[in-house]
Amino acid sequence: MLGTWLHLACGLSRTATNSVLKVIELIILMAIRLGYMLANPSTVIFPLASLPSSLPIKLPHDVRTAINSLSLNPIILRSVCCPKCLTKYNLDDLPQVCPRRETSRSKVCGEILSTTHSSCRGPQVVPRTLYSTQDLASWLEFFLGQPGIEDLVDLSYVHQPSVGVMHSIWDSPAWRSLGSFTTTPGNLTFSYYIDWFNPFSNKIAGKSASCGAIMLFCLNLPYELQHLPENTFFAGITPPPKEPSMITITAVSDPIVDHLEAMWPGRNICTYRHPEGVSKRLAVLPGIGDLLVIRKAFGFAGVSSHNFCSFCTLHIADIDRLDYESWTARNGVHVRANAEEWRRATTKKRRKEIFDEHGVRWSSLHRLIYRDPVQHTVLGLMHNWIEGILQHHARCKWGIGIVPSLKANQDGNDDDPVEHIHPQIADDHDDDVDMLDAELLDLHAESQEFEDIPLHPKRARSMTASMHSDSASEQDISEDANSDDDDDIFQMAESDSESDGSQSDNNLDKQEWRVTCTFNAAELSQIHACLSNAVIPSWVERPPKNLGEKSHGKLKADQWLTLFSIFLPLVLPEIWLLSPSKQHMDLLDNFHDLVTCTKLVCSHSTSPEAADQYLQHYIQYRKSSKSIFPGVSTRPNHHYAMHNADLMKFWGPLIKLSEFSYERHNGLLQKIKTNGHLCMFLIFFFYILNLTLNFY
Ligand SMILES: [Zn+2]
Ligand SMILES: [Zn+2]
Repeated sequence: MLGTWLHLACGLSRTATNSVLKVIELIILMAIRLGYMLANPSTVIFPLASLPSSLPIKLPHDVRTAINSLSLNPIILRSVCCPKCLTKYNLDDLPQVCPRRETSRSKVCGEILSTTHSSCRGPQVVPRTLYSTQDLASWLEFFLGQPGIEDLVDLSYVHQPSVGVMHSIWDSPAWRSLGSFTTTPGNLTFSYYIDWFNPFSNKIAGKSASCGAIMLFCLNLPYELQHLPENTFFAGITPPPKEPSMITITAVSDPIVDHLEAMWPGRNICTYRHPEGVSKRLAVLPGIGDLLVIRKAFGFAGVSSHNFCSFCTLHIADIDRLDYESWTARNGVHVRANAEEWRRATTKKRRKEIFDEHGVRWSSLHRLIYRDPVQHTVLGLMHNWIEGILQHHARCKWGIGIVPSLKANQDGNDDDPVEHIHPQIADDHDDDVDMLDAELLDLHAESQEFEDIPLHPKRARSMTASMHSDSASEQDISEDANSDDDDDIFQMAESDSESDGSQSDNNLDKQEWRVTCTFNAAELSQIHACLSNAVIPSWVERPPKNLGEKSHGKLKADQWLTLFSIFLPLVLPEIWLLSPSKQHMDLLDNFHDLVTCTKLVCSHSTSPEAADQYLQHYIQYRKSSKSIFPGVSTRPNHHYAMHNADLMKFWGPLIKLSEFSYERHNGLLQKIKTNGHLCMFLIFFFYILNLTLNFY
């Protein structure tokens, strides 16, 4: 275990770890010999002949043996996929070029699927891209094999929904929207989340790529346990270095939805309480993501599209309308029917017509017939409210941080103080390809030697655990990032809307910022003093004390929330109430509505009354914002936030479905040392997770 930990968690090389294992063996042997000599003084005379020459137990000399014997291997299904359209292929039957057509009358993809790499063993033909997903049934056996986990899941079946106030999804109408499914003992209900992260982290210049992590949380667990890594199903990591497009994302979602579809009617799963197996059904209820994900993964139109909202039929030209009662909600049945029509269309032109008319396209998740594509899609609170509304308010409406940025622009310096969360794809990915290539043959040999399938009794305790014939054992070869969909007029038409203004502050238009900051130097000092001196609980992270200055860099979402829920409500009334200016009173009223909405929408419990109150204050906030900040245009997030009231009524407290926990997992994935193997995140993560569980 020590060797495995050093290798997987600390990043020690395999050779060095193997040396450590040998030294440990020597130390133990020495200790045994010393003990033997102390117990038998006569051996001092003839030590060598009578002392033990080897250990009574066999210690592994190779860390791979240790990893195998600790049963850290998850069932990872690896298949070859086209680097361009991500279509899945069998390794044994791999065509030269990708024959897939987007529609029956489109031209073939034509991307070359394999490549030749020279090595010391001669030229080797290897697939260019692999895609890894985790087997759901085997993970469920791991998950439900944990002692006590079924007792915790059972709490959701006996839960009595509280009257009036909703404390979690268990109290919500959403929980009952699948009929009796969620409350039937044995059935499991999960959330579905997807987001992108840069496996090289954002700070390493020239090394940027994008992985999409697809995760499922078990909502039957008490809220505080849902997010533990051991209770999270990491379904798949989309092939780096580029994010899938709106069209190709179905190719990466399809294998995961295959698993989910198979679990809906039920399947025999071995659990801790039922080692012989028991029938389990599984459903996915909320699909959670930021705006980009909702567009891509759930089949809705982009934010700058004519049909820009996934919740209602309002057009983008009406983005400033506030008469919420007269809006028409989208209908899930119609959305699915239109998406189906889009899928059946035989030309891209026809698809574009359907998309332009209805603002929907096909999504793999539409195959889950029990889901309502509209009701069961949740726009994440973190991206929508905290980054989309609060951050926008501070930066674009108040102009906090504007001074250094404007100066930088005037100097012709593009050094934006804002860090980019969603990285651009680096053109020079060759280093990584070379590094992966060098490792490929070793890994191939290793996988054969160590049989790259989880045969350990702990992992293979299920009689039904199936080994998958289509698993490819080769290491991923990253492609050369030359996969622009330049023949896709549909995508080109959409490309303008990539920047959706919701993802992070990097999308806030500089020209939209106020020329002057709302606060003068004295007022800013007062805010800074509050940030320094206010007494707060030790577990609350204090925002930067020099707020607005370039040096503090980008604020995290929870720091924005802390700022607007703790510090600014303490100090801004002090500043504005003492002022005789009417403008300051207007600013205070506007801020009061914003803080009230924040308190209501980010609360850990909610009710229909609280949701109504939220909507009322939010409409007031938008009205006053228009007159106080006339130069600041309405962003799509401002419209989407109008729907938060209905989301609160349907889902209960939205903060408990927010992206925070998922983002933390993305952070963990990002930090894992994979020695440059971009596609190894899922495997390494599971190794480390299992290793941690073994320790405890
Ligand atoms: Zn292809
Ligand atoms: Zn809408």
